[in-house]
Amino acid sequence: MSRVYNFSAGPSMLPVEVLERAQKEMLDCNGSGQSVMEMSHRSKEYQAIIDEAEALIREIMSIPDNYKVLFLQGGASTQFAMIPLNLGNKNKKADYVTTGQWSKKAKSEAERYLKVNEVASSADKTFTYIPKLDASMFDPEADYVHITLNNTIYGTKYTQLPDTGNVPLVADLSSCILSEEVDVSKFGMIYAGAQKNMGPAGVTLVIIREDLLTEPMECTPTMLKYATHADNGSMYNTPPTYGIYICKLVYEWIKSLGGVKAIEKMNKEKAAILYDFLDNSKMFKGTVVPEDRSLMNVPFVTDSDELNAKFIAEAKANGFINLKGHRTVGGMRASIYNAMPIEGVKALVDFMAKFEAENA
Ligand SMILES: *Cc1c(COP(=O)(O)O)cnc(C)c1O
Repeated sequence: MSRVYNFSAGPSMLPVEVLERAQKEMLDCNGSGQSVMEMSHRSKEYQAIIDEAEALIREIMSIPDNYKVLFLQGGASTQFAMIPLNLGNKNKKADYVTTGQWSKKAKSEAERYLKVNEVASSADKTFTYIPKLDASMFDPEADYVHITLNNTIYGTKYTQLPDTGNVPLVADLSSCILSEEVDVSKFGMIYAGAQKNMGPAGVTLVIIREDLLTEPMECTPTMLKYATHADNGSMYNTPPTYGIYICKLVYEWIKSLGGVKAIEKMNKEKAAILYDFLDNSKMFKGTVVPEDRSLMNVPFVTDSDELNAKFIAEAKANGFINLKGHRTVGGMRASIYNAMPIEGVKALVDFMAKFEAENA
């Protein structure tokens, strides 16, 4: 068997242990005589799987009891509409911080329903930093404040949460969930598509404080109300059953490694190897200000498009795939999510050093 090192921004690598377990259980999960894909979502076998998934994510993220955990569909992009529809019904206004493409998309969707105030933006420097935020910048009457905690495309992350006073903080954690410890109680709501750091595409995790479930706008479709899913244990309709099962295996994997704290330590080590190399290279350069660098997505460039293209092609031929940067940024990007082993990062850095020596 030969597996590549996949640096895709998502969908991305899953732990080998998880894939092997899924393989083992493919035809007969836990003595049921069926694949999880074939199970009725109303069966007791499947109920045990989704209950276990919820219990595990609650445990590894230390989610307080007054938060609901929902397994939804529609990707993080559907949350861009569900958030204003469900949370923006008091004063019909919200604060958004713009730190990249995803936060821009979240904001423009909210503008269809609410008066949106852009609190700050890092567009002036192509989103290579996180704007400094202080409490006075936020509207105390806003229904919520929205941030993108880790910016997948530009490779920045918040190292400190903004102080939004009593206004609920809503955050997109699609590309950093479970990568380092977060204090869930600091948020009104957290959401994340599964396909970056948690499982296959098709599952969207929502963690929402119970008091925020109550007042969706009148026009909100039933399927887009958080309360619909909260009241039905994420089973108002058929949930993405197999995807939730894989998420459960990933949560078990994280727990077996020592939880999110242990993963965070590994992620910091992995990222440091790559950033140290970039800081010392004469050919490759990171694009983000050092203090706001992401642990998950590492964009970098050389000073020529030709050299970038040559690097991406040679890397691919050597088993390092999906290193091309986002189409709006160019250059390269290495996404090093939880499932990327440290050996993969070391091998990439060795390959970059060799490429640099050969092309200097
Ligand atoms: C990938 C990504 C999205 C979009 O997710 P979908 O599940 O494709 O809708 C949104 N926000 C962030 C931060 C992402 O990384």
